[in-house]
Amino acid sequence: MTNRISARRRSIAAVLVAAGAVGMAATACATTAESAQRPPLPALDSAQLLRDLGVLAADSMEGRRVGTPGGAKARAYLLSRLNAIGIAPLGAALEAPFSTTGRGGNTIAGVNLVGVVRGSRVPDRYVVLTAHYDHVGVRNNEIYRGADDNASGTSGVLAIAKWLKANPPQHSVVIALFDGEESGLLGARAFVEAAPVPLDRMIANVNLDMVSRNDRNELWAAGAARHPALRPLLDSTVRVAPVTLKLGHDSGGGQDDWTSQSDHGAFHAKGIPWVYFGVEDHPDYHKPSDTADKVPASFFFRSVTTVAEFVRRLDAAPPARR
Ligand SMILES: [Zn+2]
Repeated sequence: MTNRISARRRSIAAVLVAAGAVGMAATACATTAESAQRPPLPALDSAQLLRDLGVLAADSMEGRRVGTPGGAKARAYLLSRLNAIGIAPLGAALEAPFSTTGRGGNTIAGVNLVGVVRGSRVPDRYVVLTAHYDHVGVRNNEIYRGADDNASGTSGVLAIAKWLKANPPQHSVVIALFDGEESGLLGARAFVEAAPVPLDRMIANVNLDMVSRNDRNELWAAGAARHPALRPLLDSTVRVAPVTLKLGHDSGGGQDDWTSQSDHGAFHAKGIPWVYFGVEDHPDYHKPSDTADKVPASFFFRSVTTVAEFVRRLDAAPPARR
């Protein structure tokens, strides 16, 4: 709650500064000088980002439920995209199958896709970039397309992965597309239980789940309350983000605390720092009407660019693990 108030104060201050700059050349000069020192925001492939979202949220993917033909079809598409980008497997292959017990006691077989962009300077420390590609499938003959949840985050990870290949990071970045999130973070839990790299070599999990739409152009970053060492990096990202980036939803333990509500929860349970990027719920959340045509291209692109910028900053100056 404190975070939300301070974030709001910041945005009001920004509006006042912008209004004052109209008649104040000095302010304009200072702003220009500051932005001249800053590297430009990561330039992502916006057309491909939208194409990937459209493919994943198409009716032919049948809602991408774990263990279904629709899920397998989405996975085949994602494999082709990872190969096209040139993502190397982290383990024996990009496909990392797992089998686990679902909430109803049934056995569920899923497949994560796990690759890596090797770091140029410190290849044995890892940022773990994640999104779940599964959704809830077909219910009562209705397809749940899951465009925002989570074709958006999946497409976002692909876009950031492509940018990282062209702009090699200092530390390695694991690219993980998880299966079975909607059935209880199954893919993420399987990943941390049999991690392909030591847990203590993970700098942080950066998880994208629902990043494509918000009426107020707001994106949330949760995690700083749990791991305060990440806070300065998030604060600095807030100042350059091309969306209204708000910090919070990471304390208190109630419904508004998102700590365990997506795959980062599995990392949290293992004591690994994490940052979750996502929007607040919208009327199409977990409904068949969560469709690609409802995604505003501009916000979606700026939202994923914000995450890429945070990843860039995290790689440049990762906080030490406690
Ligand atoms: Zn969901």
